[in-house]
Amino acid sequence: MKHILLLATGGTIASKPTQEGLTPEIDSEELLRCVPEAADICRITAEQLFALDSSNVHAAHWLAIARHIEKCFEDYDGFVITHGTDTMAYTAAALSYLIQYSPKPVLITGSQKSIYDRDTDARRNLLDALRYAADDRSHGVAVVFDGKVIIGTRARKTRTRSFNAFSSIDYPELAVIREGRVIPYIETPKPASPVFYHAMNPRVFVLRLVPGQDGAIFDDLARHYDAAVVEGFGMGGLPLQVGVRVKNEIEMIEAHTMTIEAIVTKLMWALGQTKDPRQVRSLFCRPVAKDLL
Ligand code: ASP
Repeated sequence: MKHILLLATGGTIASKPTQEGLTPEIDSEELLRCVPEAADICRITAEQLFALDSSNVHAAHWLAIARHIEKCFEDYDGFVITHGTDTMAYTAAALSYLIQYSPKPVLITGSQKSIYDRDTDARRNLLDALRYAADDRSHGVAVVFDGKVIIGTRARKTRTRSFNAFSSIDYPELAVIREGRVIPYIETPKPASPVFYHAMNPRVFVLRLVPGQDGAIFDDLARHYDAAVVEGFGMGGLPLQVGVRVKNEIEMIEAHTMTIEAIVTKLMWALGQTKDPRQVRSLFCRPVAKDLL
């Protein structure tokens, strides 16, 4: 039987109603007790990494998760992380850069309702994630949610309330899980051994252009940030004033069909490895886990 490490980090899945609203108070052992059927799928060790609403999760937490997995990588066959849904796609993308070429699955799941809610999606999602983690064909970082398995660099929360909260952007789902059965759509060869990274630089800003944007904004950004992601219009179109500044004064890298979550975390990862803009560009442009096709 496969041995899976369950790492709890908070989120709605682990929340109880309190006077301050829903707070993530259910620990990893208690989560596990809510899915007794899991004992038929795999052997599980449960650990609590932190207990946060995911709006408070950032680069330091991504590094802590990756470090923890690295420390005990040889002891388990796979890893399931329970997490809030709001920033789950960022965590999935960040872990895709911090843990590359993993021959073991590193899966992230959560839910739209607390595990104690009568009509919760939490039990299904947690059991599906454990099921996929125990599947011989699984490897790498992915989100498991509402019966879909989405590669970590392509996940996006596209619905706020629906159980069908996550979509795979510009890439097919890796697998679906129907009535407890894993049905793979895309099978890729298992890499031999993982590469872990230990640094990220969070000084990345996202600028979504609005019509009439003043290009002088880049002077302010340059004072506080090491990189800016500029979300242009349509296929990346830039208005004249911004376009001229970007072309003449700024090292520009195209992100093609990457998700904003992947762009931001890949930049943080690349800037964590080097300060040299040319090396940042070369790290950024190297495809990782289907982020660039
Ligand atoms: N605010 C919660 C969180 O992201 C929402 C959720 O888990 O669905 O932690």
